[in-house]
Amino acid sequence: MSEKIALITGANKGIGLEIARQLGKQGMIVLIGARSLQKASQASEQLQAEQVRAYPIELDVTNAEHIQSAADRIETEYGKLDVLVNNAGIYVDHEGTGIDVMRRGFETNFFGAYALTLALLPLLKLSPAGRIVNQSSILGSIGTILTNEMYGMAAAPVYTTSKAALNALTAQLSIQLKDTPIKVNASHPGWVKTDMGGSGAVMEIPEGAETAVYLATLPSDGPSGGFFHKQEALPW
Ligand code: NDP
Repeated sequence: MSEKIALITGANKGIGLEIARQLGKQGMIVLIGARSLQKASQASEQLQAEQVRAYPIELDVTNAEHIQSAADRIETEYGKLDVLVNNAGIYVDHEGTGIDVMRRGFETNFFGAYALTLALLPLLKLSPAGRIVNQSSILGSIGTILTNEMYGMAAAPVYTTSKAALNALTAQLSIQLKDTPIKVNASHPGWVKTDMGGSGAVMEIPEGAETAVYLATLPSDGPSGGFFHKQEALPW
């Protein structure tokens, strides 16, 4: 199949929905991953009304059965995957900093992305130009963690460390995949007005989706194993 297939997690709202919209408007078939089929279907219908070929997938990234059935379905229906955007994320630091909250943050922000990537790598390898985008945050940059009082985030260890781990995974995967056409990069979207970012954020959602869309559509001579905001490399 020459058409490009993209799966975006957490695509029922916020930056994920907009990434799906922008990739869909470039002609890709976009698979809308959401924790519930109802949310995925609603978002897909919204995009279909905008002439985007969007289809729902029930995909809680912490649910192993959802991951397996998503992989099975993509294999059966499309036979490959071109783009995986690991966008789903949670910010739970307001619930505490103990081990249970830490595990929960990692389950979505790190293990969810890893489990889904593992399940889909065989299909990404069947694409002539596979792209993996891990939706990270500048708050996961270790340099930023050391100075993050400036963000008022000094007591946010769950979010920062789970995103730092996602960054490390991005670098690791890029080495593992260096002899394949697959490119894997981490994205910092900016501080974006979403349910997570809040109304005080500085960036509107369409602009917040730009970095992930850029990384999802990199040409064959584009970078792999980097951390980007708006085409500019960020320090790990
Ligand atoms: P939102 O809270 O608006 O959206 C988060 C999305 O992730 C929702 O669709 C949510 O689903 C989904 N999600 C959460 N947990 C799971 C799960 N277990 N399985 C599948 N989906 C899940 O946030 P944003 O759009 O702002 O954030 C998107 C990404 O961008 C996140 O990874 C976030 O960390 C990152 N980011 C955001 C910034 C910002 O300023 N907004 C800044 C830096 C990074 P549901 O609707 O069911 O809750």
